[in-house]
Amino acid sequence: MAPRKLAAGNWKMNGTLASLAEIGRLLADHPAPGCDVLICPPATLLHAMAASAQGKIAIGGQDCHAKTAGAHTGDIAAAQLRDAGASHVILGHSERRTDHAETDAQVAAKSVAAHEAGLVAVICVGETEAQRDAGQTLDVISAQLAGSVPDGATAANTVIAYEPVWAIGTGRTPTSDQIAEVHALMRERLSARFADGADMALLYGGSVKPGNAAEIFAIPHVNGALVGGASLKAEDFGPIIAAL
Ligand code: PEP
Repeated sequence: MAPRKLAAGNWKMNGTLASLAEIGRLLADHPAPGCDVLICPPATLLHAMAASAQGKIAIGGQDCHAKTAGAHTGDIAAAQLRDAGASHVILGHSERRTDHAETDAQVAAKSVAAHEAGLVAVICVGETEAQRDAGQTLDVISAQLAGSVPDGATAANTVIAYEPVWAIGTGRTPTSDQIAEVHALMRERLSARFADGADMALLYGGSVKPGNAAEIFAIPHVNGALVGGASLKAEDFGPIIAAL
């Protein structure tokens, strides 16, 4: 089974109810996309977006707690995301790793919680610019994969997103060779560790736009994209979906 192709949007801390008009536009413009489409809005929009998406676009959270319930003010349990209509959850995004000091071990624990709640974990890895400049990229990615992806990961419950930190929201992207090198490494590591690692979807994320999507999707072992800024508007996200 080949990895499923996935165009995933991360709305981050953007959007209000009025933004759901973009979902209607996406559905109208791309009624039969050639890939799975996922949008991860702020938690405040999960219920309403799930209703707008009519089962045609998957909905995801942007984080979850490792515990199932309890005294964790401001946090959301994986089962609550599921209850709100989510099928996926982004975990270990570099903004969570930086802003909330999330470690690989915490990302792995959250991924286990996501799996137990029946969610697909979209686990993010990526090097900083300093790490790339120091020639540490492959070591960093290997360590993050080893530490953040739990033993129970399968092609059905896990997607991996390679997101170089220096490419997120900057308009800068790695060269195709650089993306190919990391994706080949990820495929090799996941295939060595998991029975169906060859089938896990591998996304690239970091300044994906309509103008560079086709080139990125042609790179071996790139099965889709995790898109931030360009996922907010149907006029931008639509052409990315079409390129996949
Ligand atoms: C992201 O936040 O996951 C991301 C890739 O952002 P952008 O596409 O804006 O670089």
